[in-house]
Amino acid sequence: MSLCPCSSAKPFADCCEPFLLLQDKPKSARALVRARFCAYKLGAGTYREFLMRTWHPATANKINITDLTNDNLQWAGLEILFAEQKGDKARVEFKAGYTDNLGQPHVHHERALFHRIKGTWMYLDGQVRDLTGQAAG
Ligand SMILES: [Zn+2]
Repeated sequence: MSLCPCSSAKPFADCCEPFLLLQDKPKSARALVRARFCAYKLGAGTYREFLMRTWHPATANKINITDLTNDNLQWAGLEILFAEQKGDKARVEFKAGYTDNLGQPHVHHERALFHRIKGTWMYLDGQVRDLTGQAAG
């Protein structure tokens, strides 16, 4: 059985796959970060429905569908640095390594905010730092 792309060391079927297939919902913002990373790594176009459903309506109007379906980036690993939940709000800081279409390695470092609406954790927005040239996690 293949391991989950989110770097959890768990089987994909027991980790993020049920979320990507819309069979279950992540129980925490941390789990949502893992699942969204998987969606991007496996193909944001393929898992667009999951990504859209876990995007907060307040910021989802900023989504550029062309960006979302741009599968030119090769995502490497995910590292969650910090996660904190207070009621229906959560903050997660993470790093995700990727290689762009020119083969240049980057680290996407983000402090992201999440809200839980009717039992669904959603990505609100985040502060992003892109650390070009760093080793991909
Ligand atoms: Zn996973």
